Amino acid sequence: MNPINQSNYIKEVATQYGFDYCGIAQAEQLDDDARRLEKWLLKGMHGKMQYMENHFDLRIDPQKLLPGAKSVITFLYNYFPSAQQEQHTPKIAKYAWGKDYHEVIRGKLRLMLDELKSTLGDFTGRGFVDSAPVLERSWALKSGLGWIGKNGNIINKQQGSFFFIATLIVDIELSYDAPYAKDFCGSCTKCIDACPTEAIEPNKVVNGSKCISYFTIELKDALIPDEMKGTFNNWMFGCDVCQDVCPWNRFSKPHQEKDFTPIPAILHMKNTEWMQLTEMEFGRIFKDSPLKRSKFSGIQRNLQFIKLNN
Ligand code: SF4
Ligand code: SF4
Repeated sequence: MNPINQSNYIKEVATQYGFDYCGIAQAEQLDDDARRLEKWLLKGMHGKMQYMENHFDLRIDPQKLLPGAKSVITFLYNYFPSAQQEQHTPKIAKYAWGKDYHEVIRGKLRLMLDELKSTLGDFTGRGFVDSAPVLERSWALKSGLGWIGKNGNIINKQQGSFFFIATLIVDIELSYDAPYAKDFCGSCTKCIDACPTEAIEPNKVVNGSKCISYFTIELKDALIPDEMKGTFNNWMFGCDVCQDVCPWNRFSKPHQEKDFTPIPAILHMKNTEWMQLTEMEFGRIFKDSPLKRSKFSGIQRNLQFIKLNN
């Protein structure tokens, strides 16, 4: 197969595995992104997420993640749910309503890589899902899948931003998609205006250290800082405000992935019931959920904070 046919074949296989979009870019060093990331880190916008400082050279150079890398394949997987959380339930970001996406998507990437190898011949590939030092949004942009919105998300013109991004770095030459050249945010500032903690700055800079997702998931301190009092509006795990208000998400369509079927407790359990949950019950109900990453103690801390400060 020539590179064009190979690329078309990869996109067909991606569709069979449930990925909604697939784009391919040449594996090259991300110099502009490197400068942006460096500035962001120097300003301390990663807060206490020390791991963001690690592996800087890997983040900007796919060759360092896979020697001989030639192409970066990016996939978008829709997670927009058809259900809604009931009133007076602690708010949880939509991506975390079902099974842990790391496991679900990683499994798909693994199977897909085997299938691609069996047809395209032996090549080396490495898959990533939000777990290794890969600048996924930059690759999605370079692969023509969408633009990076002011809220920092990749926005696809057909379907908005409720997507997981996965990448596959491979050592074969493929046919490359044109980078996404337009930015359809225009003069809109809805996400900036709606962000409860003023974490979104102009020029597409999101201050991670001010984001509710940072405080409720990433921050491991025993207490959430006092200055955040009154801003969480019942968000207990993550936050979707800047995506919910984005006009492009009116084009979101419900996903068809059974593994992302919402855990019933997430949709129905009220704040008071969450407060009464034992560690054993938490472990049982959320054993396959991304919530377990915050551990029972983290969830309790967040519940306590929103109880006292809403
Ligand atoms: S996720 Fe929430 S807190 Fe974070 S930037 Fe978006 S609106 Fe602001
Ligand atoms: S809300 Fe408006 S400014 Fe923000 S990402 Fe969406 S289109 Fe862009």
